[in-house]
Parts: sequence; C-alpha cells; structure tokens
Amino acid sequence: MDVTPTASHVSSRTTTVTAIAGDGIGPEVMQAVQRILAAASAKIAWEDAEAGAAVFRRGIASGCPQETLDSIARTGLALKGPLETPVGFGEKSANVTLRKFFELYGNIRPVRELPGIRTPFSGRGIDLVIVRENVEDLYTGIEHMQSAGAAQCLKLITEPGCERIIRLAFALTQAEGRKKLACATKANIMKMTEGMMKRVFERVAPEYPDIAASHIIIDNCAHQLVIAPEQFDVIVTTNMNGDIISDLAAGLVGGLGVAPSSNIGDNAAMFEAVHGSAPQIAGKDLANPTALLLSAVMLLRHIGDFAAAEKVEQAVLVTLEEGRNLTGDIAAKGQGVGTTAFTDQIIANLGRDSSEASRQYQPLKMPVWPDVVWHHPSAHREMMGLDVFIETEQRPDALAQSLQAAAEGTEFSLTMIENRGAQVWPARTGKPFLVDIFRCRFMLDVPSEGKPSDIASLMGRISAHHHWMHVEKLQRFDGADGYTRAQGEN
Ligand code: NAP
Repeated sequence: MDVTPTASHVSSRTTTVTAIAGDGIGPEVMQAVQRILAAASAKIAWEDAEAGAAVFRRGIASGCPQETLDSIARTGLALKGPLETPVGFGEKSANVTLRKFFELYGNIRPVRELPGIRTPFSGRGIDLVIVRENVEDLYTGIEHMQSAGAAQCLKLITEPGCERIIRLAFALTQAEGRKKLACATKANIMKMTEGMMKRVFERVAPEYPDIAASHIIIDNCAHQLVIAPEQFDVIVTTNMNGDIISDLAAGLVGGLGVAPSSNIGDNAAMFEAVHGSAPQIAGKDLANPTALLLSAVMLLRHIGDFAAAEKVEQAVLVTLEEGRNLTGDIAAKGQGVGTTAFTDQIIANLGRDSSEASRQYQPLKMPVWPDVVWHHPSAHREMMGLDVFIETEQRPDALAQSLQAAAEGTEFSLTMIENRGAQVWPARTGKPFLVDIFRCRFMLDVPSEGKPSDIASLMGRISAHHHWMHVEKLQRFDGADGYTRAQGEN
C-alpha cells in the first residue's frame, strides 16, 4: 500500500484555505479563529466562500454554490463554520453535500479531557480519537417507501470503503504515536454489512504489528466509553455507529461546544466544530470559539505546520487551565466574558506552555488509492434463487398457495416467506405481528452458473396476481452464501 504524507508541502510557504463562516454563531467563531491564527503567525491565506442558510434562501437547493465547490476543489482545504439545515426550503444538508461531493470519507473526532472544564469524568485522563467512516452505510441516503406504511433505508457497506477507513485509522494511530486501535461494529447481528468492517479490519491489522488491534461490539463500546473511557486510544467504526458514539464521547469531556473534527478525503479535507449554529446566542458575542479553534489546530497539523498548531493548542490549554476570561458556557457561574474577550485572552497566552504534555505528532500518511472502479472478482459465482418483496394484505398461507402456483413449471420453488425478518411461512411457533410487506424466497431447483434463469417467466406470473416492490438475486461467491437466512429459517 502506497502512502502520501499530508505534510509534504509544509510550513515555509503560505497555504490557501477556503473559509466558510456559515450560519448563526459561525461568523463570530470564524473571525475569532482567524484572529488567533494570524496572531500565531500561521501561514494561511483565506479564500472566503459561502454555504448554508443564505444560499438555500437564494434557491440553491444543495446549499452550496458552485463557487464554493470550485474554491475547495482549488485549495483542497476548508475551515467551516456550522451550517443550518432549514426546514421548508432546500431539503438536503449542505454539510452532507460537501462531505459527499469531495468524498471526505474519514471523519476524525479527537476527544480529550480539557483542563478547567469540569465534567463527571474529570481526572480520568480521557484522550481518544474516533475515526468514523463518513460516506457509506445508512448515509448513502438510499431510501424507498415499500408500501404507503413501510419505509426502507439501504445500509450499503463496501470492502474498499472499509479498507480505506481502516487504513486511515491505522495511519492516524501511528501519526499520533498511539498504541491501540479498536474496531467497533455490530457484526454479531448484521453479519454481512457490519461484518465486512470486522473482516477487513482483521485482514489488515497484521500489517501494523506495532498497534494493538481489537474488535468490540458497538453497544459494549458505548457502555465501555461511559464506564472506563480512559481504556480507549483510537476507535474506528461505521458511519451510523460513529455518529452516535462520537457525540457520546464529546459529552464525556465537556460537550459539543469544545469538540473539534475533521473530514478527510484523498483530494480535500474540511475542518469544523462538531456543534451547530446555536441560533439562540448568534450575534451576541457569547459563542465559544474553542471547538472551531481546535479544528483549525487539526488543520494546521494536516498541512504540516506543527509549530503553529502546538502554539495555538498550548495557548488554549493555558487559557482553560487558568480559568480567566472564559466564555459563559465554560466559565465559573457569573464570570463569563464574550467571544472577543476570550479570543483576546488566548492571543495574550500565545507562546506560553500549559502543564499538559504535548503529543508528538508525525505527518499523517494518507493511504493512496488508484482511481479505478473497484471490483472484487470471484472465481465461482452461482445464482441460488430470488427474494421477491411483495405488498399484500393476504395472510401467509394464502400468499404461499398463490406463489407456489406461480412458480409451478419454472425452475424455482417457494421455500420461505418472512415478515420484517422473521419467517412466517412455513408457520413457526408464536403469533407473528404482520404488516403488508413480505419477503418471498424462491430457490432454484438447480443453482445456475451464469446461464440466465427463468426469472422473467416467474416474475411475469407473480405480477399477474401481486404487487411486488423489488427483487434481490440470491448468490453464492466462491462457495459462500451472499445472503442471510430469515430469523427462524433453517
Ligand atoms: P447547536 O447549534 O450545537 O446548539 C445547541 C446548544 O449548544 C446551543 O443552544 C448552545 O447552548 C450550545 N452551543 C453550541 N455551540 C456553542 C458554542 N460554540 N458556544 C457556546 N454554546 C454553544 O445545536 P442545534 O440547536 O441542535 O442546531 C442548530 C442548527 O445547527 C440546526 O440548523 C442544525 O441543523 C445545525 N447543525 C449544524 C452542524 C454543522 O454544520 N456541522 C452540526 C450540528 C447542527 P445554550 O443555548 O445553552 O447557550
């Protein structure tokens, strides 16, 4: 596997970064961060760009004008304030659009106990990073109504999608001098999708013998994050799992207001606070810029300006440690100051060192992927049958009778009908709760090795009597079933 250090172009010259101030408190915290970075002599030139609510209001449904996309494509780097997702005009999230457009597949969220921010977990030494796959899984946004009362969302997980996030997680573990990487999945239940992440992790892990690799089931991971968060170093996980546990983890160290993040891809990286636009406090000089500032520190490390990153981070830590001139959300009761005064305090502390030891960061070596359509060939592929998804009010026995008649004389036989994952025909013990969508499994009498089977004939007969929504081929790849059994199916 080739790797590219992200910091190859570092600090002697100025780096241009797209700045998207965003909505609500966005412009205030962006201005604060830009002032602090300038005071720290970070060599960054800002290219201002727009996204979010104002853009939606101009009728651009994506919330991202072409000029903004062009700017990020040009600079390859963005620092972004929060974007509102307004209800009533423009329906897609501009944040998700940016992540998808630039294939920012790695969402990295460091979670570290900060001095001076008291939480029930203070003193535990929490210092971990969550690496969340950012573009696949339930977030592909492929949803379909199966009937007027049944919705379905496709959970799409791919092998290359798993491999690149896992390799990124290993690379990050090395770059930060960390020792442990845990892969958190729900592979015990979703054996193919979540199981893919676990299998790829176990295949890739031996290539990194210096890192202790382990697997943990995601619900136990959530439990362990609350019981003993200090045990974790780096956690890599799928998109939906990561979305939830990264917010949970941010809550352990003081909440969204101080939580930074990055979204990294092969050609671009976007850095943003985890919090939203906090409209209630917008324009009042109340917002805490720490989360965006720590995101900017991640940006500085990403471009290899470790000295500026360290200087800014230490100034934040000194400021929090001393507890003077903090914004209201983190100050002692009644002692909060505004965004501007807090920013001034951090600037005044530039060049001072906190009592917190600094991590020895190395440039992150991004895995390099060839630009191809990824294909995993299989030596031997067989078609075993079909799952036909049918909408009906018929009870399972009547439905089975009708479908058996439809399959008569074809190469298929009806073997099972299930409702929301549980077999209901042949009948099993217990009284099922039935809704109007059934998965009806037809197995081929003889598995087919490529020659087209009698699918059109079977589907034509089913269509004559039933409303079907979709059909899935049941395949075996190199002798392994590419489909799961229904709950209760033998
Ligand atoms: P939010 O904007 O994060 O705000 C929730 C509350 O957290 C605020 O009311 C405020 O509490 C506090 N807070 C958040 N950031 C703060 C900061 N920097 N300084 C001080 N206090 C801060 O969450 P939301 O109200 O659910 O979402 C508002 C909008 O933001 C929505 O349109 C949502 O879609 C969007 N959003 C965007 C992003 C993003 O762009 N990545 C992420 C999340 C949400 P108090 O009211 O107690 O002061």
